[in-house]
Amino acid sequence: MDRLKGKIALISGGARGQGAAEARLFVGEGARVVIGDVLDDQCRETAAGINGKIGAKSVIPLHLDVTRAVDWRVAVESCQREFGGLDILVNNAGIANVKGIEETSEEEWDSIVNINQKGVWLGMKNAVPAMRKRGAGSIINISSIYGLIGSSGSAAYHGTKGAVRLLTKAAAIQYAPDKIRVNSIHPGVILTPMLEVVTPEELQPLIDATPLKRGAQPEEVGWCVLFLASDEASYVTGSELVVDGGYTAQ
Ligand code: NAD
Repeated sequence: MDRLKGKIALISGGARGQGAAEARLFVGEGARVVIGDVLDDQCRETAAGINGKIGAKSVIPLHLDVTRAVDWRVAVESCQREFGGLDILVNNAGIANVKGIEETSEEEWDSIVNINQKGVWLGMKNAVPAMRKRGAGSIINISSIYGLIGSSGSAAYHGTKGAVRLLTKAAAIQYAPDKIRVNSIHPGVILTPMLEVVTPEELQPLIDATPLKRGAQPEEVGWCVLFLASDEASYVTGSELVVDGGYTAQ
């Protein structure tokens, strides 16, 4: 019940999918959470749903476009003003694309790099000073199995998720003296709205190639994020936690 008691978390892309699941799990373990997203209505609904269930204002929804430095500043300030600080950042917001190198337009490339890669850097840049004030922190960057291995049709996505993996390790080393731990998570097939970019026919081979022979519920990633966020992971930094039903073990 109290694995995150007294902690304050900021989750990007928290309106739905994995981010929303993490917000629910975090609050269940005693955290207070700001969820930021570009889907303003859904973000408000998600926050209201969690707050309604627990009968307290433990989740605050916020407009956050992760590509905009000013939005990040406001988000971190909101954590400090509303809840008193910031202990945990989950860089979860992301978009997918399923195009190869030649098929990807420059606009698509810039858009995915800005959200998936620059957004993670901006999040850490703005969160670290606030965490330093608290004397410690935990940052969890959501990469992908596509940040570990290649495939033929998601060039820009692979590029950004691979970048998140090493950006995480660089940050882990830089901020170890500040007691700020930084780790990456590498989900496989997770059953969220993101999978709408592929057809059921395109998805099935990925599930067939997964040793556990199924996609995961977003909470199955959320519990891993919660572990890394909590003091249970006090000696874990610069690591990559794969949550893929065995996909990359083969
Ligand atoms: P999702 O599409 O349900 O959630 C992603 C969220 O990010 C959405 O709420 C979306 O509005 C938000 N977002 C997009 N652009 C944004 C921006 N500019 N600023 C702020 N928020 C923005 O998908 P999900 O599966 O919950 O994805 C969460 C993370 O997990 C992503 O980083 C994704 O790349 C990663 N991931 C997902 C899978 C999967 O199979 N679903 C697999 C591996 C990794």
